[in-house]
Amino acid sequence: MAETVKVLFLDRDGTINEDTGSYITSRAQFQLIEGAGEAIALARAAGYRVVVVTNQAGIARGITTIEQVEDLNRYLNELLEAWHTRYDRCYYCPSHPDHPHPLYDLDAGCRKPEPGMVERAIADFLAEGQVVDRSSSFFVGDKIVDVECGLRAGLRPVLVRTGHNEEQLCINRGIIPEHVADDLYRAVTGHILA
Ligand SMILES: [Mg+2]
Repeated sequence: MAETVKVLFLDRDGTINEDTGSYITSRAQFQLIEGAGEAIALARAAGYRVVVVTNQAGIARGITTIEQVEDLNRYLNELLEAWHTRYDRCYYCPSHPDHPHPLYDLDAGCRKPEPGMVERAIADFLAEGQVVDRSSSFFVGDKIVDVECGLRAGLRPVLVRTGHNEEQLCINRGIIPEHVADDLYRAVTGHILA
């Protein structure tokens, strides 16, 4: 019989690590936001699978490369070892609508707010015999596209005030998260695990 799992979907830049205002290309630019490592450890200890879902259109724009993005995703798990934790899966979307590319656009619908990466993660869990319970799964991010992606996928969206902090934009556009927290640590301890 299939196992039911709950998932904490996380945006990367501006949610887990500091948003530098541009595409991050090197390990030296990749700095965890205070409390993010502990938050991920707490969520996994409470039974959540952790899945990173990140738009990396810098690839299509020629600012960063697939190799750099994948190295930084590996580096994140190396950093998380300090909290004896790791993420379970990571998905990135290389495409950008203004920069069409035959390879990068193969996975149509991956770019947030489209829910393609979430759906792929859920399908990959299912392939391993794990059914994701969307109604007890969260999507945490710093941008309106994260909130919209979570809503479209039937997840519980949480906005954090780190990174771009698009709280006012969410209100203006009527795309409303179920909770707003100062950062990932507070989102996890004050809402998701509270
Ligand atoms: Mg972000």
